[in-house]
Amino acid sequence: MVVVVDTVSATPLRPRHPEKVNRPDAFSPPKPDWIRVRAPNTRGYADTRKIVKENGLVTVCEEAGCPNIGECWDKKHATFMIMGDTCTRACAFCNVKTGMPGALDALEPEHVAEATFKLGLAHIVITSVDRDDLADGGAEHFAQTIRAIRARCPATTIEILTPDFLRKDGALEVVAAAKPDVFNHNLETVPSRYLSVRPGARYFHSVRLLQRVKEIDPTIFTKSGIMVGLGEERHEVLQVMDDLRSADVDFLTIGQYLQPTRKHHAVMRYVPPDEFSGYEKVAYTKGFLMVSASPLTRSSHHAGDDFARLQAARAALSG
Ligand code: SF4
Repeated sequence: MVVVVDTVSATPLRPRHPEKVNRPDAFSPPKPDWIRVRAPNTRGYADTRKIVKENGLVTVCEEAGCPNIGECWDKKHATFMIMGDTCTRACAFCNVKTGMPGALDALEPEHVAEATFKLGLAHIVITSVDRDDLADGGAEHFAQTIRAIRARCPATTIEILTPDFLRKDGALEVVAAAKPDVFNHNLETVPSRYLSVRPGARYFHSVRLLQRVKEIDPTIFTKSGIMVGLGEERHEVLQVMDDLRSADVDFLTIGQYLQPTRKHHAVMRYVPPDEFSGYEKVAYTKGFLMVSASPLTRSSHHAGDDFARLQAARAALSG
């Protein structure tokens, strides 16, 4: 049996995922060649790491064990995770630490803005842990962070990747009013897999959240993503595409699920690159402005370049 311990924080006093400790181990097939990535050891990577640490920031790149960290950090592209490193949900796919989080850091919005400035980012991606313990789910903190970045780096475009704010009336409106350039909320998987993959969430609530963002402010780009390899069927992926288009979502990402530890959901299948290309083609025919589908696609991967392409696609559409 494997006990999942915290290897990210400096003081690993408790299991990283206490709710998963007694689960049986789940075994994934060996990784195929197309999943391999380079070890992070470049100068750019080291510089990014220094700025992240100096500002006391948390990144999803590290917390989620993202395979793209070497490539992204080399280009000074990191995704900041606000409101702490501890999540109140316990999704079966996610390596972010679970438990009861601490109080919000009132200075965090300024620190994120400062790091954005120091990294010289043209486009910044901000995500967060789920904060079901807060009355507004952390909506106001998201809004403050957006405003702080706008004040410090007026030319930087801002993309947020939010939780679902389930049962937090008015939270979404607070975040949308801060006018991020891109509002991303991931569906993560097809509806039939929610109970075992994302048990604390509700599929149609997430679709509706994305639809509401567009209703509130049609100028905000909306974005969502799923992982494949979790036991979904192809026709279910196509249905997700239709559901997202019904909600007017602009940008779809599809990437391969990778198992963080044996206590997490097993990889049921490694989807070959040509199947991703097939998904991409179908998604474009369904009307998405942008689609990124590949084994190593992640919501925030190449987000800056993709934002420029999103803008160009919208401009071409409006003639
Ligand atoms: S893909 Fe996103 S989470 Fe992964 S390293 Fe790049 S910025 Fe970080």
